[in-house]
Amino acid sequence: MPLYDVIVIGSGPAGLTAAIYTTRANLKTLVIAGAVAGGQLMITTDVENYPGFPKGVQGPELMELWRQQAQRFKADFIDDNVSKVDFSKRPLKVWTSEGMHEGRSVIIATGANAKYLGLPNEERLKGRGVSACATCDGFFFKGLDVVVVGGGDTAMEDSLYLSKLCKTVTVVHRRHEFRASKIMQDRLFKTANVKVLWDTEVIDVLGDAKVEGVRIKNVKTRQTSDLKVQGLFLAIGHEPATDILRDQLHLEKGYVVLRPHDGLSTATSVDGVFAAGDVHDFRYRQAVTAAGYGCMAALDAERWLQHAPA
Ligand SMILES: Cc1cc2nc3c(=O)[nH]c(=O)nc-3n(C[C@H](O)[C@H](O)[C@H](O)COP(=O)(O)OP(=O)(O)OC[C@H]3O[C@@H](n4cnc5c(N)ncnc54)[C@H](O)[C@@H]3O)c2cc1C
Repeated sequence: MPLYDVIVIGSGPAGLTAAIYTTRANLKTLVIAGAVAGGQLMITTDVENYPGFPKGVQGPELMELWRQQAQRFKADFIDDNVSKVDFSKRPLKVWTSEGMHEGRSVIIATGANAKYLGLPNEERLKGRGVSACATCDGFFFKGLDVVVVGGGDTAMEDSLYLSKLCKTVTVVHRRHEFRASKIMQDRLFKTANVKVLWDTEVIDVLGDAKVEGVRIKNVKTRQTSDLKVQGLFLAIGHEPATDILRDQLHLEKGYVVLRPHDGLSTATSVDGVFAAGDVHDFRYRQAVTAAGYGCMAALDAERWLQHAPA
């Protein structure tokens, strides 16, 4: 097996952008693309906010073009998951079902997955009214009625964002108080077209081809009823894909922690290991920001390799 200058783990916007930059800098690059090659945008349809596509682009098409661009500069690809890493010694070691791969540096771009409620109809109507990204999909619900599920700061932020686009926003929360910060709650309560249903759960999503409503249940009275809405937004958290990194890198709440180095940097707690995209960024979570971080990680890796121990 060759010794790679850079092993990129993940092939979403962050990983593929990193690979475009490292290969164009003449660094021998292996991309371990993951079992779900292409990342989160593979499960969406219209992407209207990625620059350079004035008419929008389908998520899978965008990721296919992105991958072709990385392959043009001769990155090696393995469509598999990394099952184990060892960052305690050099060269850095990464395992897939094909065996061990060695790199002088590693860029982690494994992303994060939104949590869903786990309802069968929710799965079926994903991208047809069910969304876990208000910033990405809110625009498609202009003037419509939507439900937001959640009770933390993200749920407040998403609801406030949607309130500027949608006719009404109903926040469904299974407890009788929010976890969100007081200031965010106050903002929410003051917004005229937002209402809150306490002690309530969404138990089904209604509609054939697209969302036409949700079935809700009051957890105290156990009474069920239907709400006529066109959108269901989940804001119940994300799961960063960092299982393989436990005991290897400094993580907080599962996210990779970046180490400031002369200002903003993608360095992690291990020298020569960098992270890019949703795997560390729980704030912005957009394709364009993940791509930006991918570029930064590649430039950081390139600079680090110039002075790296042999
Ligand atoms: C339904 C939906 C719609 C969205 N719409 C938009 C939109 O319109 N505009 C926008 O800007 N953003 C949108 N987003 C957000 C955007 O998709 C993410 O911010 C972006 O994909 C993050 O990129 P990433 O490269 O950090 O991670 P991801 O895209 O999550 O990619 C992670 C990659 O790592 C791989 N991986 C994970 N674990 C392993 C492992 N153990 N070994 C190897 N590989 C691994 C995965 O297979 C995947 O290839 C949307 C998200 C969703 C879920």
